[in-house]
Amino acid sequence: MNMQWNNIVGHKQVVAQLCLMQQEDRVPHAMLFCGTDGVGKSLVAEAMAAAILCHAPVNNQACGHCKACQALAAGTHPDFFQIQPESETKAAPAIRIEAVRKLQEEIARIPLLSERRVVIMQEADKMNEAAANCLLKTIEEPSGQIVFILLTSRPSALLDTIISRCMRVEFGILQPEELVAILHQQGIEEPLAGKLASIADGSVSKALAMQDEELLNLQTQAFDLASAAGTLGVEQLLQLAKEMSNHSRERLIQWLGFLAMIYRDLLMLYSGSGLPLYNQSDIDRLSSLLNKYHQQELLQLLQLVQDYQKRLGSNVNTQLCLEGFLIRINNYLEE
Ligand SMILES: [Zn+2]
Repeated sequence: MNMQWNNIVGHKQVVAQLCLMQQEDRVPHAMLFCGTDGVGKSLVAEAMAAAILCHAPVNNQACGHCKACQALAAGTHPDFFQIQPESETKAAPAIRIEAVRKLQEEIARIPLLSERRVVIMQEADKMNEAAANCLLKTIEEPSGQIVFILLTSRPSALLDTIISRCMRVEFGILQPEELVAILHQQGIEEPLAGKLASIADGSVSKALAMQDEELLNLQTQAFDLASAAGTLGVEQLLQLAKEMSNHSRERLIQWLGFLAMIYRDLLMLYSGSGLPLYNQSDIDRLSSLLNKYHQQELLQLLQLVQDYQKRLGSNVNTQLCLEGFLIRINNYLEE
């Protein structure tokens, strides 16, 4: 359980906003934290819960020493509740009405150890309709002693009635340098950390899931192709298609995804917009490609890559599909 704001990397505005509400004693009774999976919503929710439950917060942060903090750290705080989707046999994980009813019974009593009770609901979008309607009654009639923090990466999947009763807090994605800092904390060293950060769309969980070598090799292979395209002979193209077809469909779609990120980064460099690049850690390699591609070509190549990602997702022969793709992008640049 994360009890400190200091441990949170990034999300400075969100943290400042929550601290201010805490300081001014105007924490709403229901909040909805929205943002991609793995950006740190849970860590922020936990620090917020700790600050609310603490008997003597220091700078709007849990003190870490009082009885409430000790109980929270030990996982025994009677006024802190967590609820998340559960799997029943064969059914997809969901938050069901029984779980919400059980929670309502537990939170109906007055707080035992702190002034308020806090409920953190993970993946709130997985509430089925009955559960959501049941929860709605509790949110509509706040006793003043309960704070709900609902977390979701898909706010559009929630009932409007739930959304309208919550204060919405938006979490942006993490910047590559923030992601690198978190990966370092998790013991992942350079150059791996930098590479993962550049391809993980600002999500820690995505970066951790992509730790494997094969995926990083795919990124390198995407760069190799971006460099060589336009100069390859037919035999080389067919050979490359044969080699690449040893990868699974899923991997090939990721490989094309890396290629798309390179094209997208080149467009960003052309536009001079200063927006963060996916391949920031490979900026030298990226810059060396700038002369090779024109803006208009990049847009069309991006479209081509997306078309072939779709094709690879269907039931086509992968080797033939790759041959077609490689020949097309090679010819495209030759012209
Ligand atoms: Zn405390």
